[in-house]
Amino acid sequence: MPYIVKDKILFLAEASKILSSTIDYNVTLAIISKLIVTSIADFCIIDIFEGHKLKRLAVNVSDPKKQQLAHKVFRFMPDPRNKEAIYDAAKLGAPIIIPKATKQWLSSVSKIKEERETIEKLGLNSHMFVPLKSGGEVIGVLTIASMDKNFSYTQDDAVFIEELALRAGAAVDKARLYKEAQEALYTRDEFLSIASHELKTPLTSILLNLQGMLNKIHKSNSKNPEIKETVRLIEISKRQTHRMARLINDLLNVSVVSTGKLKIEKEKFDLVTLINDVVMSFRTRLTNEKIDVKIQSSEKEIIGNWDYVRIEQVISNLLSNAIKYGKKKTITISSGKNNSYAIFKVKDQGIGISEKDQEYIFERFKRVVSDNEYSGLGVGLYIANQIIKAHKGRLTVKSQVGKGSTFIVELPFK
Ligand code: ADP
Repeated sequence: MPYIVKDKILFLAEASKILSSTIDYNVTLAIISKLIVTSIADFCIIDIFEGHKLKRLAVNVSDPKKQQLAHKVFRFMPDPRNKEAIYDAAKLGAPIIIPKATKQWLSSVSKIKEERETIEKLGLNSHMFVPLKSGGEVIGVLTIASMDKNFSYTQDDAVFIEELALRAGAAVDKARLYKEAQEALYTRDEFLSIASHELKTPLTSILLNLQGMLNKIHKSNSKNPEIKETVRLIEISKRQTHRMARLINDLLNVSVVSTGKLKIEKEKFDLVTLINDVVMSFRTRLTNEKIDVKIQSSEKEIIGNWDYVRIEQVISNLLSNAIKYGKKKTITISSGKNNSYAIFKVKDQGIGISEKDQEYIFERFKRVVSDNEYSGLGVGLYIANQIIKAHKGRLTVKSQVGKGSTFIVELPFK
């Protein structure tokens, strides 16, 4: 193979283009090794730092017949205790050229006989060890080698390969950061899932105990004013515990949706009845806050096959938001259908949402109100939207600042 790249600038431009085509860590490493063995070398290894140690992540060879042999090299991780040029290049921060792989050099490369034999069998001659850098820091080392007995890498080649290594280093670092960010997100969702599960258990027991205390006090029929005050305090604790349970449930739902574990279990039910039932469950709160909810439907019943619990959750979420952001004005929940969809709308006359903000409100943890004025986690609409999407339906909003908002849910019958 001629280790000559005719138009180096064009080659580097092409390399940059190919490297920017992916953000996947393993694909990036594979692209780099492939670029090298189809241009300037017969053999290539990529070692990347994990902490202070280099980890072998990619190996490639130009001769398909030597693939198996090349993959053996994976087993031999570079050892900082050996006199290996790989670690020297990393320390130096500049390429190291071995013009010829002499017997003497080979014996100094590794203490492992099998490794030396593999290199010999591969027929590797001239080597170059090039540090991979990103933001001025060495993040790994690129090892390249030729199989031509009469060829030696030169200083000119080193300048060119350093240029390629610069682009490769930046691409590897970008892909690595992306991979780490994805892993961190996954860990966070897993943690949320476990934490919210664990928190639910003691909370259920607290609620049961509070209810038990209330029952005992009511049975004792005491007129003592101290007892009256105790009942008031227990009622407050119960409300706060319920609120905490709702927040924990929201967190649990976020982790279920984000980790792709949302399961839709369909059953046949009437949407009109469900809307009435959900509003009923809010009665105490609506009466306390003096808010009127009107229920309208063009149909007597709207029977469909959907996930009962999840649709109940969506209606509750939308109604709860209408109460929270509706400035205590009348809320209207209307429903209807056409041939393909059931439709229901939750309309309030509250603060409204600007057109720009309407783009964000369905995203996870996104809130467009001040935390001081309105409390919340910013997950209700995200979960509702994911539930409706899982039903192949649509959740949209029409709103004007200061005039109110209407959330529209379209649920397909099939
Ligand atoms: P939360 O209400 O806990 O913040 P949601 O995901 O339910 O979370 O809503 C996201 C954001 O959308 C809210 O913070 C609020 O800014 C806006 N929003 C939702 N519903 C309404 C509504 N009915 N009227 C005005 N703004 C709303």
